[in-house]
Amino acid sequence: MTDLLYMRNNYLRDFDAKVIRIDEDFVVLDRTAFYPLGGGQTSDKGFLNDEASRIAIHEVRKVEGEIRHFTSDHITFASVANVHGELDWAHRYECMRFHTAQHVLSRYLQLNYGVETVGNIITPGKSRADYAPLDDFGNEMKAEVEAGVNALLTQNLEVETRFMERKEAIKFLKDKDYQTRYLEMVPESVREFRVLIVGDYDASSCAGTHVSNTSEVGTIAIGKSTNVGAGKRRIYFRLWDEPHQLAANSF
Ligand SMILES: [Zn+2]
Repeated sequence: MTDLLYMRNNYLRDFDAKVIRIDEDFVVLDRTAFYPLGGGQTSDKGFLNDEASRIAIHEVRKVEGEIRHFTSDHITFASVANVHGELDWAHRYECMRFHTAQHVLSRYLQLNYGVETVGNIITPGKSRADYAPLDDFGNEMKAEVEAGVNALLTQNLEVETRFMERKEAIKFLKDKDYQTRYLEMVPESVREFRVLIVGDYDASSCAGTHVSNTSEVGTIAIGKSTNVGAGKRRIYFRLWDEPHQLAANSF
């Protein structure tokens, strides 16, 4: 069982750990700050080093209950080695900014247009979320939503991570009329929820990584949107200063 350091500290960018298992193309550690692909958010990448070698981690995934750090490099670590992990921080920090922006965008659409978030992809260059019911998203509405979300982000809202017992989390979110769709997807076996609170504007159950204040997001630009069937609309967005080459079909 790996201690998931990123759940408590989103700003941890390097860490020490012990190797607990090595396979041909992955390493399992006793603790990690690498975020594994999940909840719509793309995986972290980076490096693992011991005294003699360094391997590049290109993807981290949870497979059969294990957090596997995948590499295409030859792994020379001993099976009980102490290693040092380093995240690709530029990539991770963009994911954090995108993820917090997505929560604010989703809450804005819920409050002002009565639509629910039914899916999301947090990947620099192609971040997007799916909303329903939302058949139409014309230029006027797009401009209104973009301005509304940016006005909130620039209020410098604190972002807090709180751990709550299952019943308490459900009550907290329902009492404030926050979106509870994702709660229903969490298996009953999970007794503790991680609740992400953005000022007094939004709260939701989320295991993703986030900035600690919306001032770190800056502002967003909303790109194109497409109808993806069954009353669902997919809306793309980017960070105003996003340095990545944008996915050509997103804007
Ligand atoms: Zn989230």
